[in-house]
Amino acid sequence: MGSGFWVRKFLCLAIFPFSAGLVFAASGPTIALSVDASEAPRKIFHAQLRIPAQPGTLTLYYPKWIPGEHGPTGPITDLTGLKFTAGGKTLQWRRDLLDGFTFHVEVPAGQNEVVANLDYASPASFEPGYSAGLSATEKLYIVNWNTLLLYPAGYPSDQLSYSATLRLPVGWKSGTSLHVASQVGNEIHFAPVSLTMLVDGPVIAGEYLKVVPLTASAANPPAELDVVADSAAALNAPEEVWEHFRNLVKQAGLLFGARHYTDYHFLLTLSDHVAHFGLEHHESNDSRIEERSLIDEDGRKLTAGLLPHEYVHSWNGKYRRPADLATPDYEQPMQTDMLWVYEGLTSYLGDMLAARSGERTPELARDALAQIAADIDHRSGRVWRNLQDTADGVPTMQNAPHAWEDYRRGLDYYDEDVLTWLWADVIIRQQTKDGMSGAKSLDDFCKLFYGAPSGPPMVKTYTFDDVVNTLNQVAPYDWRGFWMERLSNHGPRGPLGGLEGSGWKLEYDETPSELDRASDRDDKLINAHYSLGLMAGTDGAVRDTVEGMIAAKAGIGPGMKIVAVNGRRFSADTWHDAVRAAKTSSSAIELIVENTDYFRVVKLDYHGGEKYPHLVRDEAKPDLLTEIYKAK
Ligand SMILES: [Zn+2]
Repeated sequence: MGSGFWVRKFLCLAIFPFSAGLVFAASGPTIALSVDASEAPRKIFHAQLRIPAQPGTLTLYYPKWIPGEHGPTGPITDLTGLKFTAGGKTLQWRRDLLDGFTFHVEVPAGQNEVVANLDYASPASFEPGYSAGLSATEKLYIVNWNTLLLYPAGYPSDQLSYSATLRLPVGWKSGTSLHVASQVGNEIHFAPVSLTMLVDGPVIAGEYLKVVPLTASAANPPAELDVVADSAAALNAPEEVWEHFRNLVKQAGLLFGARHYTDYHFLLTLSDHVAHFGLEHHESNDSRIEERSLIDEDGRKLTAGLLPHEYVHSWNGKYRRPADLATPDYEQPMQTDMLWVYEGLTSYLGDMLAARSGERTPELARDALAQIAADIDHRSGRVWRNLQDTADGVPTMQNAPHAWEDYRRGLDYYDEDVLTWLWADVIIRQQTKDGMSGAKSLDDFCKLFYGAPSGPPMVKTYTFDDVVNTLNQVAPYDWRGFWMERLSNHGPRGPLGGLEGSGWKLEYDETPSELDRASDRDDKLINAHYSLGLMAGTDGAVRDTVEGMIAAKAGIGPGMKIVAVNGRRFSADTWHDAVRAAKTSSSAIELIVENTDYFRVVKLDYHGGEKYPHLVRDEAKPDLLTEIYKAK
């Protein structure tokens, strides 16, 4: 892994069309799939597949490498109730000894179809993971088809056709980008699609579902927002919320100049009892946030940016995809070395569109950027691990715990790359007319790389060279050298050249931004990240420390618990009071720390006060950032 970047090969563009509705040139078999989700509140789902077969050994796969999840994340541990029959007789099966996602079934002479029954016993409590995580509550369910099916070896997923039906609890409504052929009562029949597009077409369903059109009725292609929630009240967001999503669809069209879907559905789930993440698809996204996220102001601030990010993926990630990430089925390993484009640029453009659509005010957009800049500028793990390796290592490292995250580094190809793509945008603007009116920008790259012609979903792959060449087409520059340096750089500080070039400086003061306040409240966090290098819960539990900063040097580490501050029981208030008081005192802050049943006094000789990041205008330079965030 990773050789894709360091050993660059010249590959011509490969184009694999597999558009919805045009997949039936498929040479592979058609498989009937019936899913019974009527027991969704119990979190168990039943599926039956009718798979054409021949006598001999039939090899079946359970989807392992899930697109967009960047790892072998298929929930194989939850696949239960397996039973195979042919002609009414039960068949013998065995799991492959080298790959637990592979099953071999013995098909007797004279049989040409295997009926497979399986149950998906889905998570009942929080576990790390994306679509394999918590997905069902008393009132709703998010269907990810890859959890509910098997597919025969020997065919690319584009060539297998699935004819799916879904039975829901009585009275539940649903939203999906899949084409519904018919619905009788609580049973939906979907038009047959390739396995690729079925796995790419999740369904949200529930008792409380709201559909918000995001385009005018005559628009082609249309877009809509389908929101399912654990309560009716959670759907009553102020009108401006829906207006921002309408703006998002419009601004994305202006940014890219084309759309690569026939009908787009934002599938948004509002629940405190499902896994929280966003997962991209060609014609939809499966995004999951807390129940009150749209009706509470804090919730709106904290979740702004998620839907723009997932929507951008329809262009960057689904339509244009790194060649070594575009695998023919779900069994072939994916290589993640180009996630600095797939995810990094999506993060930059998602943040840009969150501002251009009005979902984030310019101030909120700057506060979000300040958080990223401060975080990456303090990342102690940059000393040993470069940005490229955070992408290369993700299939095996993405479920790492929060403890030691700062030193290990997390999925930094998202956040660090926001700073890097801002830098690229600023360079393009500076190289062309000094950033002033008429200058080129990353918007021009977007139109060239992701733009016309519009059409139904397809994949157009790319390599490192394609990215460099297109950047050079927009503005000639040493883009190869730029990215080589940015991907291999070790710091020690973060890549703030683009931020500074955009006319803003990263500074710290004692007043948290509204976004900092909302993050700390929501996360029940004492954030002393930039002062003492300490992140702890409001219960005193130390979540992480920054290597080389005061807390770590004084002997504090993740897993310990602060029980007292200056002789008084620990609380958020006693902590903040002590840090403020130390500013005008020569005495150290004195903690009692509990570690593996022992208590110890720790002295923090720190007098710098609280530190929260902000962006401050640098009047000596043109204000490119405001220009970048301005609606087109
Ligand atoms: Zn993403």
